[in-house]
Amino acid sequence: MASSETARLINRSVVLDAIRTNQPISRADLARQTGLQRSTISLIVDQLIEERWVAEGDVGQLPRGRKPRLLYLNMDRAGIVGINIMPHVTKLALADLSVRFTTQESMPTLPNPKVFLEALCARVQNLLSAHREITYEGIGVSLPGRVDYLGQRLVFAANLGWRQIDIKGPLERATGLPVQLENAANACALSEVWSGPHEGLRDLIAVTVSEGIGTGIIANGQLVRGANGAAGEFGHVCLDEQGPPCNCGSRGCWEVLASNAAAVRNYTCGISENSGKRNASGRRELATSFADILSLADRGDLKAQETLDAMAHYLGLGIAMLVNGLSPSVIVIIGEVTRAWKRVGPIVEQVVKERARMDAGTRIVPTDDTMQPRLRGTIALVLQKHFRPRLFA
Ligand SMILES: [Zn+2]
Repeated sequence: MASSETARLINRSVVLDAIRTNQPISRADLARQTGLQRSTISLIVDQLIEERWVAEGDVGQLPRGRKPRLLYLNMDRAGIVGINIMPHVTKLALADLSVRFTTQESMPTLPNPKVFLEALCARVQNLLSAHREITYEGIGVSLPGRVDYLGQRLVFAANLGWRQIDIKGPLERATGLPVQLENAANACALSEVWSGPHEGLRDLIAVTVSEGIGTGIIANGQLVRGANGAAGEFGHVCLDEQGPPCNCGSRGCWEVLASNAAAVRNYTCGISENSGKRNASGRRELATSFADILSLADRGDLKAQETLDAMAHYLGLGIAMLVNGLSPSVIVIIGEVTRAWKRVGPIVEQVVKERARMDAGTRIVPTDDTMQPRLRGTIALVLQKHFRPRLFA
């Protein structure tokens, strides 16, 4: 049974979320919208105003009687720091309550976690002191690996080679702000159902495609964590026992066949004589990054195009597995590969059509990479604690 404190927190988040999605809104409309009593609404709203989450604005229009003051979210209230740690680069951003980025920076992700964390803490301290006018609400961090959600530690990140790293402690000590850690795919999934085109969906899977592949699963309106918090590691499901070795110790995992790193490896190992960039002396240069492969494919490089086609085929195989196993309404794809979706998308759709149950009706939707979906996920981590705590159950 929910304690009265839990009930109070749930009501508070329901009211805050109703203001967010309906602002500007009167107290009377809030009561109608949420089904809560007027007296409960008044108590909660008074507290939210005191905490500066909500502000009172214009007077609403009513045909007669007392004119209600309309409520809206106080955009100046909260600055949120988002940190997206990826194997080569870490991105930092400041955002406001509407998940609008006001500042963005990046820094290299150093291989030694201790050295990296010192550099990261210094960068965040600089960011905060450069914007002292903002009241900071917290820091959201997304990680490319398994996160112990209750203990708030990074358990293992195969593509970084990091194990059992405390990221929360050093960041909290350096900034005095609460830090929320999450696996990148989970953060993206939460962000997709919390705001944006898939808001309110109860069954959605976010697939992050970068150095590895991660999946964040929302089923029946809840994030699926599993018994030990490691649910969603579909990137390490074996699709080919004879396939290439994976950092996890296994072979032929989905991510060694369909990730950006897999594409770079396929391109460089199987390169034909006529492809690749040529430098001034006419010598062929190998693609060194996935971005290179995307631009080479764009410029008609056959090998780069074949590499993307193979990647798309394997992406489709894994997505068909997700459709068959979990039957979500939507699977969102996050990563640079979405920039080539004109080419990749139809292949993925075709493979899924051939292998997944026809009646699932799952839509496969690429996110706009320029909208920084992974960073948006980090901001959502902090905000959702206040707006939709039930997603964190
Ligand atoms: Zn693996």
